[in-house]
Amino acid sequence: MNPEQLQGECVEVLQRLVRFNTVNPPGNERPAIEYLERYVSQAGFQTEILGATDERPNLVADLRGEQDGPTLCFLGHVDTVLADAAEWQHDPWSGDVVDGFLWGRGSLDMKSQVAAEAVAGVALARDGWRPARGTLKLVFVADEETGGDVGAQWLTTTHADKVRCDFLLNEGGGESFEYGGRRLYGVCCAEKGVFRFNVTAHGAAGHASLPRTGDNALLKLAPVLAKLADQPDSYEVTDGPAALLRGIGEDPADPAGAMARLGASEPRLRTLIEPMFGVTLTPTMASASGKINVIPSRAQVRVDCRVPPGLGEDAARRRIAQVLGEQTDGLSIEFTEEIEGNQSSVDSDVMRAIERWVRANDPGAAAVPVILPGFSDSRWFRDAFPDCTAYGFFPQRHQGILEAGPLVHNADERIDVRDLGFATGFFADIARELLG
Ligand SMILES: [Zn+2]
Repeated sequence: MNPEQLQGECVEVLQRLVRFNTVNPPGNERPAIEYLERYVSQAGFQTEILGATDERPNLVADLRGEQDGPTLCFLGHVDTVLADAAEWQHDPWSGDVVDGFLWGRGSLDMKSQVAAEAVAGVALARDGWRPARGTLKLVFVADEETGGDVGAQWLTTTHADKVRCDFLLNEGGGESFEYGGRRLYGVCCAEKGVFRFNVTAHGAAGHASLPRTGDNALLKLAPVLAKLADQPDSYEVTDGPAALLRGIGEDPADPAGAMARLGASEPRLRTLIEPMFGVTLTPTMASASGKINVIPSRAQVRVDCRVPPGLGEDAARRRIAQVLGEQTDGLSIEFTEEIEGNQSSVDSDVMRAIERWVRANDPGAAAVPVILPGFSDSRWFRDAFPDCTAYGFFPQRHQGILEAGPLVHNADERIDVRDLGFATGFFADIARELLG
């Protein structure tokens, strides 16, 4: 396949996708899903549209081989977060290509990957390629940005047999970064868990005009906030982080030294990578008295806590004790949300295939495992299919993580069109490599 044709077709498909307004809520993904269904079925995919609701369906498309074998699934969501056109230089639903960039909401997260996956599958199928064994599956879903209730979560629980797969490629990795004189591509192998909690201080109410009456609970949170503002470093070097440190040429036994060197080479890189290595505690909400003239008897700060995969509440509690101290008299700490992280082994055929592809297509560069501090639809597939190897990977060579990262969910989201060609080539090559 001609790389320029692949890139041109991917640009066209992404423009079409950007022009469907799929801001979630409400999502309204049906027109985009129907467009993709026509596009891939014309090339020879067997398709099915499955939806919990009429307006918000999902697409499952299969290209089956002659013989049984593994199923490789390319996953993507077609919904987006909102966009305020007044804040943009180009209309967020224009899909215009200006100065080598395709502009629009979803151009990075993640209609671009949907387009590259679809174009790669279509180009292979149109050429007459079929898997020697197994199945190439495309799954394009609604409703990722608000949790997947009618998207990936719904599909994997109510139609598990239709989306079961051995290998899954989804969002969450692939933007390149430079370190140690090399270009590196993150392959997202794991996602952190969420262990949110409240810290509540107790006191006694009183009239605000007489500050020594009562016992002001809000003031008891002052030292808590000060400690959260000045947290000691803490690193949990589990398998994924260890593999990442080795991949970037650092010693897994010295994460603090690695972070210092990373920060010295590019502070923004440390900001992005350090949260992969430990439990993070981020206070985001607070409340106290309901009235300006009443001393609060109760005050609360809410903390968004993220825990590396493989670790649970114990690790969160250890970190809380480390930051707030063992003595938390008068404070109560209560977890409000506990979701463990999820991961796939860093040691797999898919990882080796990605590593080979990166070396062949960007000489001198390498692929390294990374951990997503947030989470994606991969968790539903890992939950439903424990043997599935799921990675986030959408290779971006020209627009690295420092350029692309800040544009996601932001104004002026746009993608370097050369990366659309680069990524489409990747999906076509990996399908041939894994399915023969
Ligand atoms: Zn996304």
